[in-house]
Amino acid sequence: MAIKQAATSDLTAELGTDRQPTGHPAAPSQTQAKQADGRLAEAQLAQSPHSDVPQANGTATRPSLAAIIEAQEQIFVSRQPESARLAALATSALAGGVVSSWQISRPQPVWLSHGKGSKLYDVDGNEYVDLHGGYGVSLAGHGHPAIVEAVKAQVERGTHFAQPTEAALAAATELSARFSLPQWRFANSGTEATMDAVHLMRAITGRDLIIKVEGCYHGHHDSVQVSVCPDEDDVDTGPADRPFSVPSSTGIPAAITDLTLVVGFNDLAAVQRRLEEHPGQIAGMILEPIMMNAGIIKPEPGYLAGLKELLHAHGALLTFDEVKTGLTAGPGGATRLTGVTPDIVCLAKAIGGGVAVAAIGGTAEVMGHVANGDYEMVGTFNGNPLAMAACRAMLTEVATPEAYERLEKLRLRAVEGLEREIERNGLDARVVSVGAKGCVVFSARPVRNFRDFLSIRDSFSHAHWLFQHNGGVFLPPWGKIEQWLISVQHDEADIDRFIDNFAAFAEAVRR
Ligand code: PLP
Repeated sequence: MAIKQAATSDLTAELGTDRQPTGHPAAPSQTQAKQADGRLAEAQLAQSPHSDVPQANGTATRPSLAAIIEAQEQIFVSRQPESARLAALATSALAGGVVSSWQISRPQPVWLSHGKGSKLYDVDGNEYVDLHGGYGVSLAGHGHPAIVEAVKAQVERGTHFAQPTEAALAAATELSARFSLPQWRFANSGTEATMDAVHLMRAITGRDLIIKVEGCYHGHHDSVQVSVCPDEDDVDTGPADRPFSVPSSTGIPAAITDLTLVVGFNDLAAVQRRLEEHPGQIAGMILEPIMMNAGIIKPEPGYLAGLKELLHAHGALLTFDEVKTGLTAGPGGATRLTGVTPDIVCLAKAIGGGVAVAAIGGTAEVMGHVANGDYEMVGTFNGNPLAMAACRAMLTEVATPEAYERLEKLRLRAVEGLEREIERNGLDARVVSVGAKGCVVFSARPVRNFRDFLSIRDSFSHAHWLFQHNGGVFLPPWGKIEQWLISVQHDEADIDRFIDNFAAFAEAVRR
C-alpha cells in the first residue's frame, strides 16, 4: 500500500479530505449506471458548485480540478452499483475486500465479470477498452485463440507434474534468441524472479550489498522493498545524489534494508561513488532499464552501457528487471532495444499470455552457478506445464513480428491523437511511449529520475483516469505511476475511443 498511497498523497491533500475507497456509494440512477459515454461528464461539470478556474477569455469561470474530480468520481460510482455491493460484501471474507492491496483504489474497486479480445466487462455490464492490461500482463488481450488452445490442450493432459516438459524447453529457446542470454529458468511471479536474481548476484560474488534505483519497483521481497516510492513529506529521503535507503513496507528488518544502497536513475556518477565507497562489497545492481513504476522514464544514452562497464570493473553484476518492459517494449524488451545485454534478465507479466509465469535468464557464467548447484533455484510450481504451454504459445504464436508491426501503428495513432489534444488545449503535458506501453506525463519539464517524477501533481492523472473510465476505457489506476498497455487484439476504434476521452478531459481541465 505504501507505494501507491504515497504517490496519491498530493491528490488527497488537494481535495482536502481523507478519501479512502468506499464500498458504500450513493445510490445511482439507472441512466447513469449504464452510461458508457464520457460526455455525461460535461453535464456534471456544468452543475459543479466550484467554479474557480478562470476561463481562457477571462469572461467566465470554469470548475476547479478538485470539482472536476469530484464530479467524475460521482459518475464513476453511480455506474457501478453491483461493484459497490460486492465490495461491501467482500470485506467479510477478503481482507480489505480485495485480493491484492493495490486493487483498493479510489473511488472504489471495480469488480470485473469477463474479458474478450480488447475489451473488459464489469459486473454492472459496463464495457471498457482494456488499456489497464492487468498491470502490464495482457499483451495478448483476452481469450486469444492461441492461448485458449494451448491452455485447453494442456488442461486435458494434466496441469502439474513438477517435472520438465517440452514447452519449457521451447519457451527457453525462444527467450534466449530474443534476449541474447543463453540459459533460463522459470518461476511464477516477478517477485520470485527478482528475488532469485538478487540471491544469484550475492551467491556468485560472495558479497552482501546491492544497489537499486530510487523509484524502481521490483516486487515485494525484502531486499528490494527499499525506496520504491518514498514520500518526501513522510520521511527524509536524503539528497538526490545520495538517497537514503528507505523501507517501502512494514515488516522488513532494518538490517536488510541497510544492505540495499540507493541511487538516482540516470546517475552514473552515483553508482561509481557507491562502488568506490564499498570496495569488494557490492554484489550487483538491479534496475528497470526503462523505469515503468514512475510513469515511463527512459535511460539516457550511454547510461545502461556505462552501468555494465562500471559494475564489471568492480567485479559486480548487472540485472535488468524487465518484468514490465519484457515483451511489451518490443520482442526482446529493453535489452534488445538498447543493445545492452546485462548478466541477468527477469521477466514475468506478459510472457504468460495471462497465466502466472516468470523467467530468469543469464549469461553462461551466471547460469553455470545454477547448473552446478552453487545456487539452488527452486519452486514447486516452477515451469508448471500449464504456464509453460501458455508461455510457449505467447512467444511463438502471439508476440510475432506482425503483431509488433500492428502495435507500432496503434502506438503512433495514440501518441499523435493525444499530442494533438495536448497542443490544442495548451496542457503542460507530454506523451511518453515505448512499444505497447505509454503514458501522459502531466509536467512541462522532462522527467529523468524519481525526484523529478515526485514533483508532478497526481491530480491531473487521476482526473484523466476517471474521464477514461467513465468514457469506457479502463486505464490502470494509481494516476501518474502506471502506463497503458495496448494488446495485439486492440484496433483503431479502441485507440480512437481513448483519444476522444482524452479530448473531453483536456477540454475540461484546460486553463
Ligand atoms: N518488477 C517490476 C518492474 C514490476 O513492475 C513488478 C510488479 O508490478 C514486479 C517486479 C513484481 O511482479 P509480481 O507482482 O508479479 O510479483
